[in-house]
Amino acid sequence: MNHRAKNYFSHQWQNGSGNIGISHDPATWQPVAEYSCATTAEFETGVSAARHAFDCGTWPHQPRLRAEILYEFAELLQARSREIEPVLVQLNGKLIKEARGEIGAAISELKYYAGLARNLWGRVAEIDSGCYSLIAREGAGVVGIIVPWNAPVTLLIRSLAPALAAGCTVVLKVAHQTSLVHQMVLECLTDISSLPQDIVCSFVEDGADISKRMCEHPLIDVISFTGSSQTGKKIAASSSGTLKRLSLELGGKAPVVVFADADLAAAAEAIAIAGYFNAGQDCTAATRVIVQDSVYDEFVALLTEQAKAVAIGAPADEDVFLGPVNNVNQLARVSDLLSRVPSHAQVMTGGSALDRPGFFFPATVVAGLRQDDELIQKEIFGPVITVQKFSDEAQAVSMANGVDYGLASSVWTANHGTAMRMAKAFDFGCVWINTHIPLVAEMPHGGFKRSGYGKDLSGYGFEDYTRIKHVMTNLGA
Ligand code: NAD
Repeated sequence: MNHRAKNYFSHQWQNGSGNIGISHDPATWQPVAEYSCATTAEFETGVSAARHAFDCGTWPHQPRLRAEILYEFAELLQARSREIEPVLVQLNGKLIKEARGEIGAAISELKYYAGLARNLWGRVAEIDSGCYSLIAREGAGVVGIIVPWNAPVTLLIRSLAPALAAGCTVVLKVAHQTSLVHQMVLECLTDISSLPQDIVCSFVEDGADISKRMCEHPLIDVISFTGSSQTGKKIAASSSGTLKRLSLELGGKAPVVVFADADLAAAAEAIAIAGYFNAGQDCTAATRVIVQDSVYDEFVALLTEQAKAVAIGAPADEDVFLGPVNNVNQLARVSDLLSRVPSHAQVMTGGSALDRPGFFFPATVVAGLRQDDELIQKEIFGPVITVQKFSDEAQAVSMANGVDYGLASSVWTANHGTAMRMAKAFDFGCVWINTHIPLVAEMPHGGFKRSGYGKDLSGYGFEDYTRIKHVMTNLGA
């Protein structure tokens, strides 16, 4: 193996003193790269340096430098994108076109936050004669970011870019499954000669010691985490000792409500794309379809037809529509959930892992499920779309909202009034109308309920990495 993912601390990419792990290609289960784990002692070195750089360095006070560096980061990522794409495909298992789209989105986010870096300003008010209050917005401090494997480029950048734009320094714990991708992306930042020292450090681990220490660490002010709700709850508990600010982007169970007046064929095609995208390993995936009873049978048939037509294979192949899930635990998790389909439901297509090398699970449709079924209530995080039936708007809303999660949702109808009533009633941080999945740098993304709190993307995501300071001055009457 030619490649080994390293850690970045003390101004260089270096092997950690922890164990050496192996990253596998999910499509073949062949080893493709190594990663070198850091120790908690090495992590402490990075945290102390990041703290010192925030408290004593000029970085928090140089918005124009931050903007220039983020813009150069975007340009370098663009220049290296052709080199990173195949590694992203090989380590994550996502399709080459998805890899291209993901890196493109990250470049867009970097440029967006490069612009916002120069827009960090506050307000002034005259409270009384000669007495002025100045409201300053400043960087929130040292930010710890725990990055997942399912979208290792965008989910890294959408926390890192606003944190840097705000003048924070950053300590990263990247996913070991995709650590080489994280390194290649971060090199586009660490290669910039004008980047001051100790603004960023990055660590790999395959357990959770560093992540746990990050959450408890007295020198870290903010934690940004993207991952499961279960781990998010543990992070909220362990961060409470130091009262850290948290941005938690957790699980999802997106409802996709289809009314009888929707363009059913177009909706089935778009929902199959948004449900099987990234092999369903996306917290916003369109995987919980709720269809009006008068068109239920027709829609189930259309969706099943779409699922059966899905081309499964090597994700590097441009004609493939569904690649493998990322790892053995993912395959086991999805298989386990599908082994317990209740007898009142019908597996229309798919339903069990494919007998071939790699972690392939077919595009699956399960119809006839009830609201309290496990497949409706639990995040599957695999290429499985469930279908339920509703009779009126009130029931559609009740079924859509009847889960613990509150991240993303969509409604499909030709009637604008219906769409807007649903949008108002849905208890989800994002509602798409006649579309599902697009996220853009300019607009906020984040959940309600057990999907977490805080926002990613947009000016709201930027604010999560800032704090407000009030300065009052009395000039005399
Ligand atoms: P996870 O949420 O279990 O763990 C993610 C990371 O959290 C780990 O790599 C570890 O560094 C850290 N961690 C674990 N325990 C911790 C603790 N007690 N304190 C602090 N940090 C801790 O995710 P996973 O193991 O990669 O995947 C498991 C499931 O999570 C998936 O099947 C999926 O359902 C979900 N998931 C969701 C997203 C998302 O975008 N919402 C992303 C990845 C995974």
